[in-house]
Amino acid sequence: MSSTVPFPENGSRHLLEVRDLAVHFALKRSLRDRMTRRSGKMALAVDGVSLAVDSGELLALVGESGSGKTTLALAALRLLDPTAGSVHFEGTDVTRLSRHQMRPLRRRAQLIHQDPYAALDARLRIRDSVAEGLRIHGATQSREEERRLVYDALERVGLTPVEAFAERYPHQLSGGQRQRVAIAGSLVLQPSLLVADEPVSMLDVSVRAGILDLLDRLRRDDDVGILMITHDLATAAHVSDRVAVMYHGNLVELGAAHTVIDRPQHPYTQALIYAVPRVHREEQRQRTLPGDPPDASHVPTGCRFHPRCAIAIERCKSDVPRLLPATDETGTTVACHLRSVSSDEPALDAGNRALQ
Ligand code: SF4
Repeated sequence: MSSTVPFPENGSRHLLEVRDLAVHFALKRSLRDRMTRRSGKMALAVDGVSLAVDSGELLALVGESGSGKTTLALAALRLLDPTAGSVHFEGTDVTRLSRHQMRPLRRRAQLIHQDPYAALDARLRIRDSVAEGLRIHGATQSREEERRLVYDALERVGLTPVEAFAERYPHQLSGGQRQRVAIAGSLVLQPSLLVADEPVSMLDVSVRAGILDLLDRLRRDDDVGILMITHDLATAAHVSDRVAVMYHGNLVELGAAHTVIDRPQHPYTQALIYAVPRVHREEQRQRTLPGDPPDASHVPTGCRFHPRCAIAIERCKSDVPRLLPATDETGTTVACHLRSVSSDEPALDAGNRALQ
């Protein structure tokens, strides 16, 4: 279960806290812009997002491609410099640190890549791949200590017998086993936070559950906080405590995973859930999400979802909805002018009907 950790000196009690984070990119200027000496357009990849992850918690960040999830995660790890806002990690505002000052914290916050095939060097034995981070950070005093930590990490990710796996090369492993090696390479540095970017999207369906269960075990047994990025609500529902839904650089819904999945409040979340294919005909609810996916260089006025929203009202075209608690008992926060007006029937159930 999630727990907060005390870092009162910086006003954050969370393992990771992102406050009003913005990441804007300058786009290449068009010929017309250059001829008229106008500045080019900006892409608002992330635009004022606040969220927190606690030790032992798994927060799933969900949204379509282009919604800003990965950019947010990279900025949270200071692998990208944010345009505005702050990132507190273990009580330190890392946006104020130099690259050199960041170095000791990098060990504590590790990124798990989407592609286990690209994440490993094909020329290295598994023991060397897992030891790479230890060597970069000069984290061990002897070969024996390195070996002990590497073997321990391989065992924690379930690659046993450890001695056999340690001597293999990546091409001798399955996709799921490679992802376990990549996770071991992060765990060996004893991080308090893992950021997992689509950790199962490139794996066969048959091994996905095993990797998700592994992440679940790591946060429960080792109190590691996990921010998991996924476009797949079924993946999010499988292991996460809370789900944050991103659209066009903004958070539009945040709440307990079972509540967001079972009783989605925001029309975008509802559309994502309705777009999930069902196996049984009687449960078949698949709908394609209407309209075009978000384009960070063209931000609609008002609610950014309004061009695709089946229940948009006039106000949605001009007023930006704020992320506020829904007025029902769910505890979910929602950014929608039509968030629940009745606890009996969330107003946004109209969104369901519109999509049927
Ligand atoms: Fe739809 Fe308006 Fe709600 Fe945006 S604010 S999701 S456009 S109803």
